[in-house]
Amino acid sequence: MFTKLLVANRGEIALRIIRACQELGVRSVAVYSDADAQAPHVREADEAVRIGPAPSSESYLKGDVIIEVAKRVGAQAIHPGYGFLSEREWFARAVREAGLVWVGPPAEAIAAMGSKTAARTLAISAGVPVVPGTAQGLTDAGEARTIAAKYGYPVLLKAAAGGGGKGMRIVRSDAEMVGALDSARSEARKAFGDDAVYVEKYIEGPRHVEIQVLADAHGNCISLGERECSVQRRHQKMIEEAPSVAVTPELRRRMGDVAVAAAKAAGYVNAGTCEFLLDREGNFYFLEMNTRIQVEHPVTELVTGLDLVQWQIRIAAGEKLPFTESLVPRGWAIECRITSEDPANGFLPSTGRIEHLHLPTGPGVRWDGGIEAGSEVSLFYDPMLAKLIVHAATRDQAIARMHRALLELTIDGIETSREFHLRVMEHPDWQSGSISIQWLEQHLDEIANPTAPDEAIKAAAVAAALVAERDRGSRASGVNASSGVGTGSSAAATPAQATGADAWRRASRLEGLRS
Ligand code: ADP
Repeated sequence: MFTKLLVANRGEIALRIIRACQELGVRSVAVYSDADAQAPHVREADEAVRIGPAPSSESYLKGDVIIEVAKRVGAQAIHPGYGFLSEREWFARAVREAGLVWVGPPAEAIAAMGSKTAARTLAISAGVPVVPGTAQGLTDAGEARTIAAKYGYPVLLKAAAGGGGKGMRIVRSDAEMVGALDSARSEARKAFGDDAVYVEKYIEGPRHVEIQVLADAHGNCISLGERECSVQRRHQKMIEEAPSVAVTPELRRRMGDVAVAAAKAAGYVNAGTCEFLLDREGNFYFLEMNTRIQVEHPVTELVTGLDLVQWQIRIAAGEKLPFTESLVPRGWAIECRITSEDPANGFLPSTGRIEHLHLPTGPGVRWDGGIEAGSEVSLFYDPMLAKLIVHAATRDQAIARMHRALLELTIDGIETSREFHLRVMEHPDWQSGSISIQWLEQHLDEIANPTAPDEAIKAAAVAAALVAERDRGSRASGVNASSGVGTGSSAAATPAQATGADAWRRASRLEGLRS
């Protein structure tokens, strides 16, 4: 095992990796930008080194600086987390050439899966089903129309270098093609410096189901089952769960076999994920392989009992996987991404200082976060602050548990996605599992925008909390309300105080689950 590992990331994933290191007895080295000098990941690591100013292009994306730091402090390995440099082939190669160990797949496997068109070509050669479409970039709108005629509208234009839902356009007719191609190309050029765009058949109403694989350097490659990530906004995941209501044991085995075949074809080692679309008829199509740890890895950890980040490090250190059979999921896990966005305001990014933070605890609750009270949330980095994850015996129980945990959560000072997640948990479609990747967009208004009844419930909760507060005050002082520790006559209850009454009322919205 390594004695020292450098974590080339920030926020919740940096902390996650540092925790894995602590449990493995590996010393951790954090790197940080000026904006993160006070961040929890800097404090929790055994050592921390400043790498540059706040913009990530001058800090977390400075691969050469990071490798230099790793060598200077005597780290033997670099873990890139997700985002930033994690899927840059040149960086994985440079780490190896510097005599360090890359905690991730070989640079060659990153390259093989790096572009969507290259990955499609590889998948087809390995017998993996892909969404009907092309595997080459388009030359012009005329060619795009000819291809669309072959598959039938609607089609989806996708950036070959794509990621994060960028450079994607749905096209429903010949007339829309020119404009859609231009805008997909220009978005792709801006985001990836590469404007190659290809065509896929647009699948209506599918689910996003992905398979986690783990491969060691000794030829073992196993599937750890599926995660469903269908609750998406603008092709970006917001809620993930494991297992999926749409996957039977038989389908799990078939999808697992296909994912393992794709990984083997790419010469894959370490943790990776094959993403698929699952249509209403039970057909599945390979989308891409993410050659890194994913944001939503905790749901797989909870249903398999494995620590995926520790396994990434152990595999990189040359360990053999102790199991060769695919694992059966135990219970149900759900993850909500807690972001600094205001769902009631078109998901506008929210910035500022976190004044107060109260974290949910209790049975089956896990918080993977990168924030604390006093943290400054800026526009320099991704708005994802933390992940709230729960585990329970059944899906219904996991939803009730997530609802309860979200009610316990208080983040004051900035807007967050907490309320949005509560509304999803309360929605009958989500509760019955009748969702697809288009479901959220179709219900965004009712879920993201507070409506009158909810305001009434909030007001009732605050009133009830004030009454409780007054009762506590009079009991404590033995006199009357105004002499208690309370908030005085004009102030409202704090969110933490309102929670109890709020929870009691909102729990009634889970009625569908319990009947
Ligand atoms: P990115 O790498 O930009 O995230 P993906 O290929 O992983 O792009 O697709 C992201 C999301 O876009 C998927 O989860 C799905 O919701 C949607 N999507 C992608 N391809 C298709 C398709 N052919 N038909 C319908 N939806 C699609």
